[in-house]
Amino acid sequence: MSHQNLETLDAEAIREEFPILQREFDGQQVVYLDNAATTQTPEPVIDAMSDYYREYNANVHRGIHHLSQEASIAYEEAHDRVAEFIGAAGREEVIFTKNTTEAENLVAYSWGLNELGPGDEVVLTEMEHHASLVTWQQIGKRTGADVKYIRIDEDGRLDMDHARELITDDTAMLSAVHVSNTLGTVNPVSELVDIAHDHDALAFIDGAQAVPNRPVDVEAIDADFYAFSGHKMAGPTGIGALYGKQHLLEAMQPYLYGGGMIRKVTFEDSTWDDLPWKFEPGTPQIAEAVGLVAAIDWLEDIGMERIRTHEEEIARYAYERLEAEDDVEIYGPEPGPDRGGLVGFNLEGVHAHDLASIMNDHAVAIRAGDHCTQPLHDKLGVSASARASFYVYNTREEVDKLIAALDDARELFA
Ligand code: PMP
Repeated sequence: MSHQNLETLDAEAIREEFPILQREFDGQQVVYLDNAATTQTPEPVIDAMSDYYREYNANVHRGIHHLSQEASIAYEEAHDRVAEFIGAAGREEVIFTKNTTEAENLVAYSWGLNELGPGDEVVLTEMEHHASLVTWQQIGKRTGADVKYIRIDEDGRLDMDHARELITDDTAMLSAVHVSNTLGTVNPVSELVDIAHDHDALAFIDGAQAVPNRPVDVEAIDADFYAFSGHKMAGPTGIGALYGKQHLLEAMQPYLYGGGMIRKVTFEDSTWDDLPWKFEPGTPQIAEAVGLVAAIDWLEDIGMERIRTHEEEIARYAYERLEAEDDVEIYGPEPGPDRGGLVGFNLEGVHAHDLASIMNDHAVAIRAGDHCTQPLHDKLGVSASARASFYVYNTREEVDKLIAALDDARELFA
């Protein structure tokens, strides 16, 4: 199906491409509002992976036979496609990982463990996901580097004055989330990267919640590293990508070793293959890379700008409906260009887990918990929050179902 001829994004038509969205529980069609955790998979992506297993499944690294040749080309070219999608110069700058978390760890281990020491500082934000927060915290403990956090203000935006204060010549790395998975805040990442560069620090941007739903150009942002996951962008689980500037990746040591990443091995020593293979040891995620390419093709056919607008509109609608309820507290900024497509909230007197359970009785899938941002929840003064997160296929009617289910939760728990 081509989406090109549609003026605006037609979520109803798009839903048809997702078999899972047709599922019913107790006679109710699933309302899937847990997209910040994982998005659903459209038929073209499922078909691409199925074709791979039916037609050209083989190990890569350019075996001599036809099947390996075909698989190798598909796998290698997947790097080119991702590079093009995020505005990287070429495949040398795109390393496939398991997910965003592994991309963070790759930089933390390969760069952080070797480059950081006492006196160095790593600056994060208070809204970091554990993927970066826990990782840099541990690297800090092992290297003696200090970890500092840019404050958020009352509206859930970064305090940029504090950012300018905190990032100094002692800063070696800034790691910031592009879009917060808890607050929905879209951070001014180019500005943060500029501040870091003014002090000769590197900048890592966690794009797990940004690449799926807006145009992202890593060169325009000027990030040194940028990471995202396939399973949050209509693609498969098990694959993510790390973008890194070529000269930085070239200077870094791999932290995972084995076959497929070497040039020459003797009993005494080894040398590494070119980028990106140097960082991709062992049999990689071949089917998943094929699926990721299909997902990118599918998303671009709709148009990243249209996806962004749709998410912003649905999030605005959800925000306004929730805000109209006196007993609902919403986290993060007001609707607008600096709020992404999710709304975190709590219903007074009802634990987020109970709320999610009531929602589930209505086949409304939301997430409840700390969303891998425990320190941020401490700061908000709550142990958990409920989160409704949207994607291309969500509609206003689905938001209405979420709102309708609030009454049940009040009756049972409040
Ligand atoms: N960063 C952010 C902002 C996220 O939302 C997530 C997923 N919740 C991650 C990192 C980690 O992604 P993954 O689990 O795919 O590694």
